[in-house]
Amino acid sequence: MSSNDVSGGIVVGIDLGTTNSSIGVTMNGQPVLIPIEGQPLLPSVVGLAPDGSLLVGRAARNQGVLYPERTIRSVKRRMGEDVRLPLGERQHTPVEVSAIILRQLKLAAETYLGQPVARAVITVPAYFSDAQRTATREAGEVAGFVVERVLHEPTAAALCYAGEGPGAATERKVLVYDLGGGTFDVSILRQQGEVTEVLASHGDTHLGGDDFDQVLARWLQQRFEAQHGVSLREDRRALARLSRLAEETKIQLSRDSYVRAIAEDLGEQDGRPLHLDVEVDRHGYEELIRPLVERTKDSVQLALREAGLLARQLDEVILVGGATRTPLVGELLQGLLGRAPRLDVDPDQAVALGATLHAARLAGLPVQQILVDVTPFSFGTAYFGVLDGRPSTHCYKQIVPRNSPLPIRQTEVFFTMQDGQRRVQVEVYQGEHPDTRQNIPLGHFLVEGLDPEAPE
Ligand code: AMP
Repeated sequence: MSSNDVSGGIVVGIDLGTTNSSIGVTMNGQPVLIPIEGQPLLPSVVGLAPDGSLLVGRAARNQGVLYPERTIRSVKRRMGEDVRLPLGERQHTPVEVSAIILRQLKLAAETYLGQPVARAVITVPAYFSDAQRTATREAGEVAGFVVERVLHEPTAAALCYAGEGPGAATERKVLVYDLGGGTFDVSILRQQGEVTEVLASHGDTHLGGDDFDQVLARWLQQRFEAQHGVSLREDRRALARLSRLAEETKIQLSRDSYVRAIAEDLGEQDGRPLHLDVEVDRHGYEELIRPLVERTKDSVQLALREAGLLARQLDEVILVGGATRTPLVGELLQGLLGRAPRLDVDPDQAVALGATLHAARLAGLPVQQILVDVTPFSFGTAYFGVLDGRPSTHCYKQIVPRNSPLPIRQTEVFFTMQDGQRRVQVEVYQGEHPDTRQNIPLGHFLVEGLDPEAPE
């Protein structure tokens, strides 16, 4: 193993996020995230257990729904403020709480690498004020790091995609769309060689995937209450379970068209347990969250205007943040910008990997680009719908978008044209045109034995 321990010790890259944080190191020329309890992400949550011990990460998050008074989440929102945050009987500054998270990351890295880790690059949002940046740097120092650089998150993400070789010197305009658990921001960067400049940055510090969970949890609650005639409004435990179930369902809906959401013993009536068991389909879910996703469009347009650019002048659209895995996000952006976003680097990991690349460069290490296998084409099928205002059998539905990392599994629901129909011919195309005749036919197959009795 050759990690970046030349010229004065290992330099790690850290994404100190509102919802999750992560730490990376370059090994054998390749940036990698260090596993923490077997996962690349550490929930940015600090808690106090009933026995008075400090909890960080998953354990803190799990108890947080039941004991909010003994849990601090989203401390990043308070960075730079002169406040004391209660944690049980104790009081902590935001810098101290962030330092607890950073110390946990440091410990994970030292355990993994088997040696001390002191130097770090830490990322912050482009919109952070000077006080917020200083507080982040201080948190790093309290945790025992020498903070080599405080780097913008969109800049870090764009570094993952920066080209190497002769073409790297040409100027690129990059839009970074970052939708995390609790915050949204969009930045436009100008990149040339080693220099990256943030031209504009806008966003909403109270919009993210957690809001998707909330609308879905409320919908599940309403379904349960309507079905059983029982209110869950006062039942904190049941609501906490629904919120967790909503997040799991949401994540599954990014891949599958239908998800069965089940919660046994969610409530009771006359001593009888009541269960939740409903099917959620992606289209219905998308209608629930559409207003939230639409809200991000204004910021994108504002950022473009401020950068003095038209959408077609962008060279690259990059997605960052777990919530950008929601297919609706990619669809809306493609509609707005006329270009498919890059999907090759994991949106949860792009910032930390970019920070790690930067850290390796500071340590003087040669680094390779992050390589993943992606499909260079979009694939889809034909369906009967409306094309140019007329009914047509040549409508194209894209199912696997270009640049998706491989392997991939995607599902989409289609209905038969006639009642009782038992067979369908599925045509497969490569391309992006809404009319299948403009795409490349790859083949077809027959699905037989459909159940004519199946309910819609
Ligand atoms: P981040 O703050 O970038 O870690 O993003 C966390 C948010 O992304 C949370 O709201 C997660 O529930 C959400 N998320 C993670 N994976 C997915 C997925 N596959 N589809 C939709 N949302 C996701």
